[in-house]
Amino acid sequence: MPYPKDKTYRGRIAPTPTGRLHSGHAATFWKAQERARDRGGQLLLRIEDIDKARCKPEFVAGCIEDLKWFGFSWDEGPDLPHSLHAPYYQSQRIPHYREALDRLISIGAAYRCHCSRKDIEQAVRAPHAADDEIIYPGTCRPPHRTKTSPPAKQQYCWRFKVPDGVRVGFEDGRKGPCEFVSGTDFGDFVLWRADEVPSYQLAVVVDDHMMRITEVVRGEDLLVSTARQLLLYDALQWEAPAFFHCPLMMDEQGNRLAKGHQSLSLQALREAGQTPESIRKEWPGT
Ligand code: GLU
Repeated sequence: MPYPKDKTYRGRIAPTPTGRLHSGHAATFWKAQERARDRGGQLLLRIEDIDKARCKPEFVAGCIEDLKWFGFSWDEGPDLPHSLHAPYYQSQRIPHYREALDRLISIGAAYRCHCSRKDIEQAVRAPHAADDEIIYPGTCRPPHRTKTSPPAKQQYCWRFKVPDGVRVGFEDGRKGPCEFVSGTDFGDFVLWRADEVPSYQLAVVVDDHMMRITEVVRGEDLLVSTARQLLLYDALQWEAPAFFHCPLMMDEQGNRLAKGHQSLSLQALREAGQTPESIRKEWPGT
C-alpha cells in the first residue's frame, strides 16, 4: 500500500567517517532513503565527524563516493550549495552544541564530573554494540538539580543528570512500543568532554532538532541511546522526532557488522564486481 504523502517528512543519513561504509550501513541508510522518498519528503546528509582523532578526510570523501555509487541522493548536504541548514559537518557546528550545553547547565541538568574513565573518551561515538556507556556510579553527581559551583582546577567533563527511575517510552516505527528506565537501563551520560569535544548524544539531538528532522532511522543497537536522547529533548523543551530502528546486520559469527569488516565494505564489494542491486539482494528480508 502506498504511504500517505507527507511533504514535511524530513529524514537524514548521518555517517561517521571513521572508515569506509559497509553493507550494514548501506542497509540502514537505504531504509532511511526509502522512507523519505515513499512519503515525498526530504532526506539530508550529515557527516558526524566530531571525533577528529578518528575521522579522516579520506574517509569523508570515500563515504560520499560510496553513497553516490550505491544510489543514494539527498536534498541537502555538505556537497550541495544553498542547503538551508549548513554546515552539515558536525566538526563545524560546535558553537550550536555549546549553546545547548550552556542551557542544560543553566537549568541544573548538567554537572561537572572529575572522573576520568574510558567511557568519557568513548562518548563522542554512537555507542554501537558492546561499547555502550557504562552506568555511571554517580561519584560526582550533586544531590539535586542545582546550579554548579565555580570551575575547579582539575579537568572535568559535563554529564547529564538522568532522573532516577523514569520510564522513557516511545513508539518505534518498526518495533512498536519501547520502554527504558532511566538510572537502570542507562545512567548519567557524558555531554561534553574535558578536551572540549561534545558527545554524540548531545550533538545528534541538537542537529536533529535544528535540521528539523521528523523521523530518525537508525540501527536498533541505538535503542537505549534514543531513550537518552528523549530525555535531552525533554530538558531542552524541544519536540522529539519519531524513531524507526532497523535490524542489525550480523556476520557469520553473529557479530554486528562493523567498519573492521573490510571485506564487506562497499568499496571492496564494488571492486569484487558486485553492483548495488546484487548487494541489496543479500540483505535479509529483501
Ligand atoms: N553517526 C552515527 C553512526 O554512524 C549515527 C547514529 C544515529 O543515527 O544517531 O552511528
